[in-house]
Amino acid sequence: MTFNKDADISGNRVRRAGAGRATGVAVGGVGGIGLLILLVVQLLGGNAQDIDLSGLTGTNQAEYAPGEGEESLVDCLDGADANERVECRMQATALSLDAFWETTLPDQAGIPYELPGFELFTAQVSTACGAATSAVGPFYCPPDRTVYLDTSFFAELSGKFGAEGGPLGELYVVAHEFGHHIQNQLGTMDAVNRTGTGPTSDAVRLELQADCYAGMWVRGAVETKDANGNSYLLAPTQQEVEQALSAAAAVGDDHIQETFSGQVQPDTWTHGSSVQRQNWFVTGYNEGTLTACDTFAVSGDQL
Ligand SMILES: [Zn+2]
Repeated sequence: MTFNKDADISGNRVRRAGAGRATGVAVGGVGGIGLLILLVVQLLGGNAQDIDLSGLTGTNQAEYAPGEGEESLVDCLDGADANERVECRMQATALSLDAFWETTLPDQAGIPYELPGFELFTAQVSTACGAATSAVGPFYCPPDRTVYLDTSFFAELSGKFGAEGGPLGELYVVAHEFGHHIQNQLGTMDAVNRTGTGPTSDAVRLELQADCYAGMWVRGAVETKDANGNSYLLAPTQQEVEQALSAAAAVGDDHIQETFSGQVQPDTWTHGSSVQRQNWFVTGYNEGTLTACDTFAVSGDQL
């Protein structure tokens, strides 16, 4: 997906964790890992033992101080910057997602959209959900309503996880995490049991719904505009939509398990299979409604 080179993407939408920021508060002890996984919503599932989660030291006493030691992306000015540099692409994507949900959420759910935080970090970050390393992949922390992402993940997505790469694959990742914020606003996240696993579990339904919301945005993104009326994005080509589908397949639980352990265990799934993730992205893309994305309303064999 290509950004309109004239779109205004300036401002302070995305923060970047500064070098001096305190990280690694570890008070949680043995129970820490479980705590953080329950609190955050990630892009990745798979088998936790096979992805390096050793850096997770969750704690409910994280010294989280929003704004402390953070910088904004002041040198991201227009869509041309977004096409060239990944950090600017993140800021432009957030602006387009904001514009989309600012109209869609009131229209379809009758509630105003509240801006989620969006923070880029390198290696590790301290959040209201505890400290995390890049190894966990991009995630959303409900208590501080913030999306956290290390852009080095995109190289892993196409390397380690085998996605074909390309900007729309990256944008899908961001849109998925914003999808969790929408679920948080709608109360879906609190209403479901996120502790179960398996292809039809609530945990998987929640993740597939975030994929569906990402598809909704891709469909509507071309209509999102800056303050001057310039569209943020050009319409996606079929080839670009394939990039998003490839990324969705790459982070499917079955694909991750097969890649890292050689063994697919559906009963441990937390995010859904490659096919499920692609299907729900396509549902959101084709239908464009929150109702069509109600993954909790369908029976297990339709999931
Ligand atoms: Zn997720």
